[in-house]
Amino acid sequence: MNFTIVKELRRLAWVLLLAGLAAWLLRSLWPLLVVLAGYTVFNLLQLVRLNRWLLQYPADWEPPESKGAWGDLFNNLYRLLRKENLARDELGQLIRRTESSMSALRDGVVVLDRRQQLETWNQAAAQALGLRVASDRGQALTNLVRHPALGEYLQADDFSQPLCLPAPTGKERMLEYSITRFGAGEYLILLRDVTRLHRLEQMRKDFVANVSHELKTPLTVFKGYLETLHDSIPAGQTAVHRALAHMTAQSERMEWLIRDLLLLSRLENTETGNDPQPVAVAGLLQGLAGTLELLVQGKQQHIELDIPPDLRLLGDEGELASAFGNLLANAVHYSGQGARIEVQWQADGEGGRLVFADSGPGIAAHHLPRLTERFYRPDASRVTATGGTGLGLAIVKHVLLRHNAQLDISSTPGQGSRFVCCFEAQQIQA
Ligand code: ADP
Repeated sequence: MNFTIVKELRRLAWVLLLAGLAAWLLRSLWPLLVVLAGYTVFNLLQLVRLNRWLLQYPADWEPPESKGAWGDLFNNLYRLLRKENLARDELGQLIRRTESSMSALRDGVVVLDRRQQLETWNQAAAQALGLRVASDRGQALTNLVRHPALGEYLQADDFSQPLCLPAPTGKERMLEYSITRFGAGEYLILLRDVTRLHRLEQMRKDFVANVSHELKTPLTVFKGYLETLHDSIPAGQTAVHRALAHMTAQSERMEWLIRDLLLLSRLENTETGNDPQPVAVAGLLQGLAGTLELLVQGKQQHIELDIPPDLRLLGDEGELASAFGNLLANAVHYSGQGARIEVQWQADGEGGRLVFADSGPGIAAHHLPRLTERFYRPDASRVTATGGTGLGLAIVKHVLLRHNAQLDISSTPGQGSRFVCCFEAQQIQA
């Protein structure tokens, strides 16, 4: 049994014994009753003191003076409260330190609860998003940053890539949102000001577009003079004619390069159309195969198209023609004599795939991840022979991105390659 209780019971036993002795000597119960009443009043008084102290704590810091069990009780309670107070102080300090280190960060930090409502944020985030402590806590982030892309991004719940959006406080400023899930489904958002990077990227795109555009006129003049020279120089001057033919071929390559660069910068710089049209894929591919017929016959190749006649893809016909045209032309250009080229549509519950498979030379595995980069060429000598611009697959990738689709490439050297355009179900109209 607890030592305090034993002490108290012993004291009560002594008092009762003395009261009992007095009652026996006086032959009356009064001494006993008086002692019991006194004991009860004493305990009640201690209870009142305890209650008053607890109500005034921590203003009245020291516990009331008392002896015996009540004294022990007061002291134990006092020790417990002090311990709790210390722990609270330490926790408060930790929170203050975390808050001050958060506000010292130059990047914005925002914490959202599991319902995507604002819980806490630092000074930089308040500035970037224009948040006010009093009114915005508990608001949905999408109510304050009114950009449809943010809602879609949060809903998709895939934060492997950051999201870049104009800041709600000023359209000139660009913010990058990197989101991590933590705890019980809460969100930690890191906001980075990427205005400068964005501006540089825009400058790069504008520069490429402008240079390509500016090169068009001199090239047209140059080609015009080449044609005039070709017609005016006597046929006997074979060396000059060879030089002219070479210059014409190179100026044509330059023309294709400019065409592809302009197409790429248009794909990068313009929003996808709001009004996608159904594009008949079988007809489109037949047309594209027709433009390659001469080359295919010359190389004794065989193109097989296996596309349902009623298949429609929602999108931009010109862009899809560029993408599919590039894939088909590559298969023809890079495959040798007698190669077999198959274009096949495969559908399943989740979407559909347009597969361009050839029995050409194939591509070594280590080149595959970089193949859609601009001007990336696994084999430079082969490109000079085929006259490619090095931009074909970059165009394919961009067009597919604009159609919510993606490009999968697989290849076995010596056996052939497969370029697969994977479309989501919402993009298909069969
Ligand atoms: P380009 O064909 O103009 O060089 P692309 O971006 O279309 O540029 O292709 C990049 C490279 O990928 C090509 O240089 C070629 O080496 C390789 N490639 C593309 N398609 C095929 C294919 N079907 N078979 C083999 N190699 C290919």
